Amino acid sequence: MRYVSLGSGSKGNATLLEHQGRSLLIDCGFSRKTLLQRLELARADAGQLEAVLVTHEHGDHAKGALALCEALDIPLYCSQGTAIKMDWTEHARWRSLTGGDLTRVAGMSVAAVTVPHDAREPLQFVVEAAGLRVGVLSDLGSLTPHVIAAYQGCHGLQLEANHDPEMLRKGPYPPGLQARVAGPYGHLSNAQCAELIRRIDWPGVQYLTAGHISEKNNHPDLVGQALALAFGSTSRPVHLLAQDQVADWCEF
Ligand SMILES: [Zn+2]
Ligand SMILES: [Zn+2]
Repeated sequence: MRYVSLGSGSKGNATLLEHQGRSLLIDCGFSRKTLLQRLELARADAGQLEAVLVTHEHGDHAKGALALCEALDIPLYCSQGTAIKMDWTEHARWRSLTGGDLTRVAGMSVAAVTVPHDAREPLQFVVEAAGLRVGVLSDLGSLTPHVIAAYQGCHGLQLEANHDPEMLRKGPYPPGLQARVAGPYGHLSNAQCAELIRRIDWPGVQYLTAGHISEKNNHPDLVGQALALAFGSTSRPVHLLAQDQVADWCEF
């Protein structure tokens, strides 16, 4: 099993997971054309892609998903709430997911996890194959016992370190948007991300990556410091994801 971020941030997110020559994509916040280019950059075969899972309706996650599914003739999975917001409920490609569902997609087991975020019915995903467990988690405003329980025992975790509260306060966002980002249905701060890492028990962890890093309200050095402290006991590096870069594959 292996996985790679094809880009992460408020201008677009997509993560590819692959097992035995079959793959699924979590989110397609890029145009179909950009996404296909990024698959090439990752040396991934678009022909192996069997489904797209969309976490929620915000454009940085959903933008190119339906166009990609139509071009590749594959299904699109998301919650009913997301489908309603995207006007996908009558579309033949749509498959409904509900928080708590365990679904088989592209030979992998996908758990849908309900998260607090200001979307209609947002989900995040934990994917398992061959005894390996990968959690992909972004766009949540606060840590809930449900989320913390769902992501225990991951061997790879890609999570959100969106903002530094002081940079957000002094930054260019108007007060209303600042309140939204920092609020319980917005995005995780570096400190909240570090707190999540501390509360996850993962003896088999191999990869930790941080994404959805704000370009205006955060700095990679601050993310690195906050997470390395929390993750320090494992003596493994924390990898930071970028908006315009295909990351390195995390391979087991
Ligand atoms: Zn987002
Ligand atoms: Zn969002």
